[in-house]
Amino acid sequence: MHLEPDETMSIQRTTDGIETAAERLMQARHLIVDLDGTLIREDEPLAGAVELLALFCDRYVIVSNNSTHTAGGVARRLARMGLKVAPERVVLAGEETVAFMNREHPRARILPIASAALQRHALSSGCTLVRTDAEFVLLGLDPHFNSARLGLVANQLHRGARLVATNGDDNHPGPGGSLVPETGALLAAVVAASGVRPWRVIGKPGPLLFEEGLRRLRAAPATTLVIGDNPATDALGAVRLGMSCLLVGGAPDADAPTLAALLRARAASVALERKHVEGLAQGLHRAVVV
Ligand SMILES: [Mg+2]
Repeated sequence: MHLEPDETMSIQRTTDGIETAAERLMQARHLIVDLDGTLIREDEPLAGAVELLALFCDRYVIVSNNSTHTAGGVARRLARMGLKVAPERVVLAGEETVAFMNREHPRARILPIASAALQRHALSSGCTLVRTDAEFVLLGLDPHFNSARLGLVANQLHRGARLVATNGDDNHPGPGGSLVPETGALLAAVVAASGVRPWRVIGKPGPLLFEEGLRRLRAAPATTLVIGDNPATDALGAVRLGMSCLLVGGAPDADAPTLAALLRARAASVALERKHVEGLAQGLHRAVVV
């Protein structure tokens, strides 16, 4: 799914090298970090992920356009990979879409096209889920999406339901350089079949997930750093809210090729700073003795 024209406007990023990126990491008081392609790739943690989360300890949240899992499910999945993360530190597009619907349209009739986990979460948080006469279609990454469901959605939209999508990503990176289709790919099919554009797209680069992350951290945008791998979602969303952003990965304007490389550069900066402070202290000591 292509983003709206104002969202396709690429942000002008300047990358001043990995040393400057390391300095910005050192200065950050709070961290908002992306999940897929930044901390993990499918079921594998990426190099540096464990160390980054340890460095920020109780000063980070993970903000992801994931719509198939709940925060509890993601925390369990991360634990299997050796990443210990409390569910409260995980902000997801699927759950935030349910929260948005409960906040803005409580008791609305919602047709869910989404994973079983997200549907259970929606039901348990008070949503009214229906198959007919829907006021809204909630579209997430439904692993069982097929032509029958496409027909169901298209007809509900045709008769006036509004389309709310969890996120607009076409895909996210999978193992061995592969692509994993995302909600945006399903959204493109829905728009093509129905002729109806989404009424709301909740995930990044929109503000709702980042704002929820800042709220949980009790953090200000000016002292919060976003680390992600996607210029169109992570960087654009961060910059719009006045947050600094570092991109890792293979994008041409990435600040560092990997989290591990970024952390190595940070360690070198810390060592250099310590040497400088020790040098100053020795100079002061000599001056006092003389
Ligand atoms: Mg990502």
